[in-house]
Amino acid sequence: MQLLDGRSTSEQIRKELAEAVQQRKKDGKKIPHLAAILVGNDGGSLTYVAAKVKACEQIGFESTLIRYDDSVPEEILLAKVQSLNEDKSIDGFIVQLPLPKHIDELKITQAIDPMKDVDGFHPVNLGKMILNLPGFLPATPAGIVELIRRNQIKTEGKKCVIIGRSNIVGTPLSIMLGRNADPGNCTVTLAHSKTKNLHEICQSADILIAAIGQPDFVTAEMVKDRAVVIDVGTTRIEDATRARGWRLKGDVKFDEVAPKCSFITPVPGGVGPMTIASLMINTLKAMELKGK
Ligand code: NAP
Repeated sequence: MQLLDGRSTSEQIRKELAEAVQQRKKDGKKIPHLAAILVGNDGGSLTYVAAKVKACEQIGFESTLIRYDDSVPEEILLAKVQSLNEDKSIDGFIVQLPLPKHIDELKITQAIDPMKDVDGFHPVNLGKMILNLPGFLPATPAGIVELIRRNQIKTEGKKCVIIGRSNIVGTPLSIMLGRNADPGNCTVTLAHSKTKNLHEICQSADILIAAIGQPDFVTAEMVKDRAVVIDVGTTRIEDATRARGWRLKGDVKFDEVAPKCSFITPVPGGVGPMTIASLMINTLKAMELKGK
């Protein structure tokens, strides 16, 4: 069994991006600038945004964090999105999800200029992804594909089962791994909560990807020998041994599944760092797509 170490792979990507920033400086070009909007004080969102800002600092990107209280009205948020769309110093920005219930996430996502949508959630970018046109790929699926590519895992002709069909992970990933590309050319099954015979379907997978947010859902008997297993799930569970009182748990029962696999991602340290690396790649791309 080989660990798919997202932490070290993402470190390598950060190094490459830092070199690209140094080169841009030498060439007198603009340094990429990422902005992030964070609404409220959700612990998970705070951690994710802090990690994104830290990654920018490490690489040498500029970053701006804009914070609002939970009660911020939708019109204020929309106005901020509009002003970031027009701000020439900002190359890309994200609105950290989830948003409070009174705010329509789709409305906010659709208000972002697709050329600055480095999370890749805008319908224009999702459409470009389907047609394989230049645009921004959603960060988590792109990070998973990059992890597969950099670890030279063969995907062509493989049966890939993805559990979970969200718009930000499962659905775009099913398209990316099914298309005629390398990595790609998989025969993909996209499973969800209404799927029948899920255990049998999983047992047939050469590549099994779990993105449901249910700790320990995937057990050893669901996994074929020598399968590649990628665990996207990150659920906070109580852990009194940690000072902060919690730790992250994946969707895969790691201890019993790992010995059967050819490759497996840990949680934490697998897909999470690759998501941030993809966001950084998209931020640099935001400048390149505009020829800056
Ligand atoms: P989501 O919107 O929470 O949706 C969950 C998906 O799982 C749905 O498609 C649901 O099916 C399916 N599902 C739930 N229970 C199931 C079951 N028992 N059997 C089969 N399918 C089931 O998904 P998400 O936003 O992609 O998040 C999933 C997990 O990934 C969460 O733990 C999240 O924190 C994590 N995540 C991690 C990263 C990272 O960077 N590491 C990034 C994004 C998300 P239905 O559609 O039928 O309801």
